[in-house]
Amino acid sequence: MSNKTPVTAKRRLDYQPPAYQIHDIELSFNLDDEVTKVKSLLHVFKQGDHDQPLKLDGENLTLIEVKLNGKSLQQYELTDEALTLSNLPDECFIEIYTEIDPASNKTLEGLYKASGSYCTQCEAEGFRKITYFLDRPDVLSKYTVTIYADKKRYPYLLSNGNKIDSGDLEDGKHWVKWQDPFFKPCYLFALVAGDFDKLTQSFTTSSGRKVALELYVDKGMAHRGEHALASLKKAMKWDEVVFDLEYDLDIYMVVAVDFFNMGAMENKGLNVFNSKYVLADSQTATDEDYFNIESVIAHEYFHNWTGNRVTCRDWFQLSLKEGLTVFRDQQFSADMGSPVVNRIKNVKVIREHQFAEDASAMAHPIRPDEVIEMNNFYTVTVYDKGAEVIRMLHTLLTPAGFKRGIDLYFKRHDGQAVTCDDFVNAMQDANSINLDQFKVWYEQSGTPELTVEQDFAADTGTLTLTIQQHTPVTLDQSQKKPLYIPVRVEYLANDGSSTTDIIHLTQSQQKLVRDGFDVEPTVALLGDFSAPVKVIRTLSAESLLTIALHSNDGFSRWDAAQTIYSQFIHSLTPNGSTLAITQETITALLDGLLESAMEDQALLAEMITLPSVETLVQQVPKYYVESLHSAREKLERIIISHAQPMFEKQYHGLAFTNYDYTPSQTATRKLRNQLLMYIASTEQGEELVTQQFMQSDNMTDTLGALKAAQHAKCKCFDKLMSQFEETWRADPIVLDKWFALHASRQSEDILSRLDLLMGHQQFNHENPNRVRSVIGSFAFFNSTGFHAKDGSGYRYIGQYLQKLDKINPQVASRIVTPLTQWQKLDEERIVKMKAELVRLLDNKDLSNDVYEKVSKSLG
Ligand code: ZN
Repeated sequence: MSNKTPVTAKRRLDYQPPAYQIHDIELSFNLDDEVTKVKSLLHVFKQGDHDQPLKLDGENLTLIEVKLNGKSLQQYELTDEALTLSNLPDECFIEIYTEIDPASNKTLEGLYKASGSYCTQCEAEGFRKITYFLDRPDVLSKYTVTIYADKKRYPYLLSNGNKIDSGDLEDGKHWVKWQDPFFKPCYLFALVAGDFDKLTQSFTTSSGRKVALELYVDKGMAHRGEHALASLKKAMKWDEVVFDLEYDLDIYMVVAVDFFNMGAMENKGLNVFNSKYVLADSQTATDEDYFNIESVIAHEYFHNWTGNRVTCRDWFQLSLKEGLTVFRDQQFSADMGSPVVNRIKNVKVIREHQFAEDASAMAHPIRPDEVIEMNNFYTVTVYDKGAEVIRMLHTLLTPAGFKRGIDLYFKRHDGQAVTCDDFVNAMQDANSINLDQFKVWYEQSGTPELTVEQDFAADTGTLTLTIQQHTPVTLDQSQKKPLYIPVRVEYLANDGSSTTDIIHLTQSQQKLVRDGFDVEPTVALLGDFSAPVKVIRTLSAESLLTIALHSNDGFSRWDAAQTIYSQFIHSLTPNGSTLAITQETITALLDGLLESAMEDQALLAEMITLPSVETLVQQVPKYYVESLHSAREKLERIIISHAQPMFEKQYHGLAFTNYDYTPSQTATRKLRNQLLMYIASTEQGEELVTQQFMQSDNMTDTLGALKAAQHAKCKCFDKLMSQFEETWRADPIVLDKWFALHASRQSEDILSRLDLLMGHQQFNHENPNRVRSVIGSFAFFNSTGFHAKDGSGYRYIGQYLQKLDKINPQVASRIVTPLTQWQKLDEERIVKMKAELVRLLDNKDLSNDVYEKVSKSLG
């Protein structure tokens, strides 16, 4: 079907240890606009007794010369992908001279030049675009790096580790030499050259070492870097307190760049960040931005131990570092703010995106078995389901047992490149527990379903729960095994008292008997979302209300409310619902919530928020686009007509205070803006929205007003939006919010609006943030526009991706995701979506990135 020259997948089970190790590498870069010269000196050691050649990866490089032990080498084999040297002695020095062109590198992988600075991104396999090397994470080397560049334009020349020397040259150039004392894989190498504003602070570690913290941002942006630096210090402290992990170099640098494919990168001692995860002040950043910055800064910092000191043996093990590090950053965020609201945030990601991935042709275990393009596996499954798997260990072993496991893991593996099994083995050995069955979580894809039945024998006071676990087959695996699943259970008695338990599920069917109840308790299952599974059970409206209003577990309260909303919505669609949720259930829930004077404003805000369309889709066999949307809207109208007076009263009761990013202020703003979402569509809506927009002293409330206006289709929307654009025209990170709001708006002429947005002077097809704001927002979040019945939304995205794939395959491959998730749609839409996929595949220059996802999804 495809015109592309076939590419082969790599398989996890084919792993072979490297035939050579490279203990030292000395790199020198001569940065120049015309041609950048890279010289690399490798100290190579043969591993064991063999006569295999040394095959160095390299892509898009111009080879100038190779020397072996100082002598020019004439015999070597060169292809588009590798430089192969044969008949090497057991130990030797290889010198490689290459040239590259960073200015024309739009893939933002390898060494690239964008908005006037040079910058690198090597994970997963970008180092091979810089020089010939063994580009795999199990080759660990000591790096010495010298950078030469024009001093005026590039006053800062940065790389990993410590600055050991520097000097000026006559031609206006200068140079700086860096040395990283820690062995590292090449994906953690980084280089940055440019002119920045620099913020410097310091952190004293628990053992008393003083670490210089340096933050580099665009000129004029220094005042927006304070929050990131403060977050870094909190993260450093937290890791010392919770895990006894201390930073290991004398300097920690973070550079914010405008052109970046993802969030950030944990290069040793020199993190590179997408500027949207660094820069913040109350005028330009929302509470969510502040939160994200704190969490991404922490995430990259935590990688210094979980990722850098102990790294992955091969890329199939990516979750070893990402799942664990996401878990760590989630725990950190929970400690910095509200644990419950954080947990809800994590669960939304799983239910909206990870369940969707499992339901698609991209379904894969957290440790994948087969990969064509590694960049395609930086997924919600590897990251977020990976974190859930770590969390289950934390639950099963208790925090103290988990800490013992972590200690043993570092004791055994510091300085090594290891596997997910090594991690679980450390957990197991430190706790004398058998985790063989638990390891199935690493090999099995799919979303397990727990079907639960509850029985009560009134005469004996015995409660029986019968739980069946079943993982439906996925497109990548036809056989599924039972998993080891911790299920948190709460028994709620009539008098409001409650007890909890953790059930260890291991069999496909298990009975749990518990006695001593006078009356049948209400049972809340999966408290704190103790496992990444779906629960299927028949609960009465009354039981759901009891849990929603009285459970001691905030997550369970929220979850019960979500079930009430979801099942009501599904009951209005052809999917139907087996639960008897009526309008009265809804109003009883709202009355209960609003009259209880709930103290936790953030939880209240979450509990009056309806499940997203994406979440709803994952609960049912079929996605009836029109019917699901109108059912969800109908529920919204019911809520408004019942609760409007209470919403308004609450809204006016919330004080506007001078902006500060604190948990209590954040909670208040969250509730205010959720209330405004509802109020916006009432008579008073236009006025309140406009008023909030005008009076707001911070981006959270400003954006809250705009979102409410967009959602409720307020007349004032266009006017407020153009006012916003006038204010923030010169500030692309802020303008991204405006782009996204326009692109996710429901409107008949959305496609011509998208064209207009891309004609905006700040739009740039080469900048991933801009592309995600416009095209990504449309494809992922404008479900009515994207799923337009005539297929025009699919067509639009398909055509755009043809173009984008030639500029930046990684970003194109992310945005193709919604186009590959056709499985639950109606026949007509499936045909139209597939037609776009076929068109994409027809392109013989299609990147491996997009090819892998599209060809899989066509089956
Ligand atoms: Zn990470």
